[in-house]
Order: sequence, then C-alpha cells, then structure tokens
Amino acid sequence: CKQDNTSVSNNGEPLYLDASAKIEDRVNDLMARMTLEDKVAQMSQYVGLEHMRKAMKNLKADELDKNDAQGFYPGYSIQDIADMAAEGKIGSFLHVVTAEEANELQKLAQKSPLKIPLLIGIDAIHGNGLYNGATIYPSPITQAATWDDALLKEASKQTALEMRATGSHWAFTPNIDVLRDPRWGRTGETFGEDPYLVGKMGLATIQGLQSDDFESGTYLPNHVIACAKHLIGGGESLNGLNASPLDVSKRTLFEIFLPPYKEAVREGNLFSIMLSHNEVNGVPAHMDKFLMTDVMRDRWGFNGFYVSDWNDVSRIANWHHIAKDYKEASLLSVAAGLDMNMHGPKFADYVIQLVKEGKLPQERIDEACSKILEAKFRLGLFENPFVEVGKENEVVFNKTHQETSLKQAREAITLLKNNGILPLKGSNKSIFVTGPNANNETIMGDWVYEQPAENTTTVYEGIKALGEKNGFKVDYFNAGERSRKMKDSDIDKAATLAKQYDMTILVLGENSFRYDWPNKTTGENIDRATLELSGKQMALANKILANGKPVIVVYVSGSPIAEPELENQANAVIYAYEPGSFGGQAVAETIFGALNPGGKLPVTIPRSVGQLQMVYNHKPTMYIHKYNTEEKVPLHPFGFGLSYTTFKISEPRLSQETFSSINDTIQVSVDVTNTGEMAGDEIVQMYIRDNISSFTRPVKELKGYKRVHLEPGETTTVTLPITANCLAFYDADFNFVVEPGEFTVMTGDSSADKDLKKVTFEATETINLKE
Ligand code: BGC
Repeated sequence: CKQDNTSVSNNGEPLYLDASAKIEDRVNDLMARMTLEDKVAQMSQYVGLEHMRKAMKNLKADELDKNDAQGFYPGYSIQDIADMAAEGKIGSFLHVVTAEEANELQKLAQKSPLKIPLLIGIDAIHGNGLYNGATIYPSPITQAATWDDALLKEASKQTALEMRATGSHWAFTPNIDVLRDPRWGRTGETFGEDPYLVGKMGLATIQGLQSDDFESGTYLPNHVIACAKHLIGGGESLNGLNASPLDVSKRTLFEIFLPPYKEAVREGNLFSIMLSHNEVNGVPAHMDKFLMTDVMRDRWGFNGFYVSDWNDVSRIANWHHIAKDYKEASLLSVAAGLDMNMHGPKFADYVIQLVKEGKLPQERIDEACSKILEAKFRLGLFENPFVEVGKENEVVFNKTHQETSLKQAREAITLLKNNGILPLKGSNKSIFVTGPNANNETIMGDWVYEQPAENTTTVYEGIKALGEKNGFKVDYFNAGERSRKMKDSDIDKAATLAKQYDMTILVLGENSFRYDWPNKTTGENIDRATLELSGKQMALANKILANGKPVIVVYVSGSPIAEPELENQANAVIYAYEPGSFGGQAVAETIFGALNPGGKLPVTIPRSVGQLQMVYNHKPTMYIHKYNTEEKVPLHPFGFGLSYTTFKISEPRLSQETFSSINDTIQVSVDVTNTGEMAGDEIVQMYIRDNISSFTRPVKELKGYKRVHLEPGETTTVTLPITANCLAFYDADFNFVVEPGEFTVMTGDSSADKDLKKVTFEATETINLKE
C-alpha cells in the first residue's frame, strides 16, 4: 500500500521528477508513491526483446511456440514481456544492444503510471563487445598484463561512453574473481591470480566506469554503474569446472578471494555486485547472508545492490537442492540480501506472495528498491531515458578509443622467450605464418559478438603489413582455424610449405570468442581438463619444428598454455593473450622491433596440470618436498616478462627501519636503469613477507608495483609506499592486524626469488586496523 508522505516540487510536479531536488529526497518521494508490486518490479530483470526475437528466428518451425518467449519465459510471449514493461512490471533489462532497442523499451516504460526508466545492463567486460562496431579492448587478463591502472581506467571511461551512446547504463564488470585454477574457462575474463593486482585492476575499472568523484548525490550522465562479480570463489571451483563447489577456509576467503571486493567497496564506491553460480562451504552464494550482509555490507560498508547471476535464484532449488522450489529459493535469497533477480517473471510473483504471507520483511524490499532507484536517479535516467539514435556513430570506435585499445595491447604483450631472433632484422627474408589463431577474431576474447572485419587487425594481417614494409616476404597458410577440427592433410601441407621459408611464425592458443560459440575451447562453461594446447596444434607445431628452421610461437589465448617442450624448441615465444581489435598490429610491432615488449604475467604458467596451485604466494611448506615426475618450479613465474633491452634495479632503500603506528608509511625506493640499447618499459614489483606470524603467511605477497619507461642509459627512482594495510592479516578473531616483528621487503622484476633484492624492517607494535 502507498504511504502518505509524497511531496511536490515548486512547479506542482511530483518531487521525484524534479532534477534539482536531492537524490535522497527524490528516492523517498518516489518510494512513497509505490505499491509493493511496483517495488518488486524494480527488483526484476528480463532479457532484451531483440535478444529473444533473434533466438526465435534461429528456431525451426516445429520448435517455435509463440507463447513461449523462446524458452526464456515459458508461458509468456515476447508481446507479454513488452506489455509488462509498459505496465511498470519490469525494472531492468539485460543485453539490449542497440540505441534503437533501448529507446523502444524506454518508450514502453514511459507508458507506465510512474514512468520509472529502465536500467539496462550488459556484459561490456572489455569494451561494449556485444555491439557490432564497438571498440574491443584487450580482455581483462590482457589488461592485467599491462600493470597499468591509469590506462585501464581510461579504457573503462571510454567503454562507459560507448555504452551510454547505445543506451546501456550498467556494465557487468569488473570480474574480480581471483584465478587460482586456470583450467576454469573464464580465465581470460579475470585479472589473474593475485589478490592485490586483481584489486587494483578492479578498482581502476570501477573508477573509469563510475567516475572518480562517485559519491552520493553526484549525477553520472556520461558514466555507467559497475558490477563486481562473482561473489565468490569461481576462480577456484572444484576441478576448474564452472559453478562447481568451493570448499575453503574462512582464512583463505578473507586473505585470497575477498580483498579485491574490500578494495572495490571501500576505495571505489562500487554500486553493484553479482553473486556467483557456485556454493562456498555448503552455502550457495545466492543465499549467503554471511558474505552478502555481514561481511560486505556491515563490515566493509557496501552500499550498492546485489544482482543474481543468470537463473541462479531458481538453482538454489534445482541445482543445489536446498530449497524445495523456486518460491522457497526466492525467500532464502532475498532474505540473505539479494536485491535484483536476473532474469524472469516468477521471482516477482513469489516475492510479492512472500511479503504478503509475512515471510519476507517489507524493509528488505524497500532497501532493495531504493538502491536500484538511486542508481537510476544518479545515472540521470529520469531526466533523459532516451538516447539520440545516430549519435552513437560519433562515439563508438572513435580514434581516441582505438588508440587506447592499441596502447593496452602493446603494453600487455609479454615476451616469454627470445634466443636473440627477435626483433627480426634484415630484409629479403621470407616468413611463413600459420596456426589456428593467426588470421581470425580469436584475438577478441570472450563476450564479443560479430564485429566488422575492417575494424580488426588479425595477427597475420599485422605481420604482413609491417613485414612487407620492412622488406620481408610474408605468406599465410590456413592449416585449420579451429584447433579441434584441423585436418592431418592440412598439417602436412603446412609443414611442407614451411620448408620453403626462412622461418615460421606459429600462432597458437585457445579460442574464447563468443560469437564463434561451437568452436570455443575456453569460456563460460567451457573448462579445460589440461593446460596443453587443444586439438591438433602440437601436431602442427612438431611437424614444423622438425624442418629445423627457426620458429617463433605467438600465443593468442586468455588461458595460459603449458607446453614446456614447445617453448624449449621454439626460438622465441610471445604471449599476446587476447589483445582486442588491434592485437595483430601490436604483435607485428613486437616482432619487427617497433615495440619493445614490457608486459608481465598476471598468472603463473605451470609446466603441467599437475603443477596447478603453483601460485607465487604459496605457504612456506608448499614445496618442502618435490614431485617424482615434475619440477618444482613453474614454466614461468607470476610477474615475469622479458624485454629487448636490459634493466638494472638497485637494492631497495627504506625511508625508516621501523613501523610503529596505524598512520605510519615506509617509502621503499629503488633506482631503475635501462642498461641496454633500446628504449623500453620495466615493471618494478614489491613483495612483502611477514617473517614470523601467529598463523602461517605466504612466502611473499605483491604489495606495490610501478611501470616506468626508460630511454637507453636513463635512470629513474621508483618509490612505493608500505602502509599498515600492506602488512596486516587476520588474527584468531578475524581482526585485521599488523603483528610486531620482522618483515622482509623484496623488489625486482618478477616474483621469482632470483629476480628479487631484499631488505628487512621491524614492526614494533600490534596495530588493529579495525574494519
Ligand atoms: C555470467 C555472468 C554474466 C551473465 C549475464 C552469466 O552466465 O556468469 O558473468 O554477467 O551471465 O550475461
């Protein structure tokens, strides 16, 4: 029932429509005008009509049931959904891709009594990739390899502009799942294995999307709200399988998986969080009150709203078997803290019934609805729910955005091996390019639909253009673009052809390009049982290597590849990850020396699947013993990456040798000199170890980094701060404390001990950071 505390503005209009009123007052006024049904409608999200129409087109006549919106919503036609939007029964849509469709839906919402605009969400995780013609930035794992937060923030700001121009307001990103098992198909969507780096990259994404001065009362007409996901633990689900359970200690949850969320909430004013498909310690994430409410809201001050993942509320019943039916599942989820359901009609009916039956408190509904409304006000949607059709062409894929995407791709490229062959010099040499990822859109990564060919530079196109400019002859042979469908006859032909060239560039890796769904080898629900190259890629590599001519391997893959023997035999290995629209150009520039690679691994690359969990920040006893059939060091450590020049990083110097109070800061300084002949970037990394602690602590943890550019002979000083936050961990009662005692600071250019120089200092007091 409506409450009687509505207000009017000076011109006699309801206060909530007055843009000059305070957002809080606008929310309260609107809430007072809403019925229970109106409020629950705001908590309900549906998939876009065009998405359903397209899916229907793909169905055969006998599969087509006009009363079933393509199996999305059995019993409802697409027209029913449109009618519901016009009656104010829907608060949000997802995957509305074009400005035209966004306007079509907003027009429907404007017909409803309260005219509440729709919040439109989309998986714009590295550019607004579902839109045909968007700027495709490198995928998150690629962005993490740049270790360049400022550039990521810029890319995220631009993504927000491209989204707003096409009518979307809510990006389902950043994915701040800490990746501990790279068999997980969604590896490329993450920022890698390290809580600190993931936290910083997540924060940069949020700040770029939501804007810097994101505080209550600020309007965001050029920005969107971010959605950190997935709370929590998908990056270590059992056996690397998407949505499988996570059984983990509370300590590991707080020390490995939760820190990026704490950072996002406290430093980034994060506006929304998506829950994860999996359960944690026997509790499905979608009903985990401890995480949603006690930890995130009450302990760390999360002030936004929670959205479910696709269908996951109903899965509390039909996957997890905790609730007897969807209605009970809705009760458990909303009571625990869920604010919006992705996606479908039944949820709203059940929630309304549950409130009427006295099982769900009205306050929970009010809390959920007012948060969602606040987002709509702050985004300026009440003032202008529509977008100007045609204007998106000025914003989307504009020159500035293209340059940012290219810069990120350049900064990410990580050189894993070079026996001196790179950069390629001289002329009159011939290059043979082949491999499944050489000449297609696998450079795009996941959550990207079809893109115009002219917007994309494939690896082969990049090498051909720059190679010929440098006097090389460059040819390509398609030995099968889909690793699992390669034919032996094509492999043989490639190997025979390769003999006629001075060298081969083999472009290998996995495929997470969403538009190419049937051929994907990684991605959501496409997890790997091994870390080796899929399909017949090694057969191709081995035949070409057998020719005895130089081979340069380029990996295009969001998931790390464990092929030690291939790396052993290749002359050079370049890891390009999923470098986006301009990836081919960045790879070519690396090969011919127009670019000096400076990216560093955001993940450990194991030698084999048996080395999983060989993360750099392991506990002290992890490698006391060794395997009987495998080495005890990984193929490449976290933070590793070569350059065409050489750098010298000095011993670390400390501004003081003791740490004694909560506001103390020790400045750690190192001098970095480019001792080689080529300008280049170095990423200085700082790790810390708590030498004696009341619970076991990792052998080292990343706590600072900085990317610097240096000309040959140039020296710069990098200074990184150590604050109490860098030293604290959870005591027996889960207070976040710094314990007195000795700490070691390690600085260098990778996480490997041999690459780090050390110094120690003392913390003199117990410091409780009171969170
Ligand atoms: C994924 C989410 C995504 C959502 C909407 C889910 O299956 O897990 O990451 O945001 O779909 O597309």
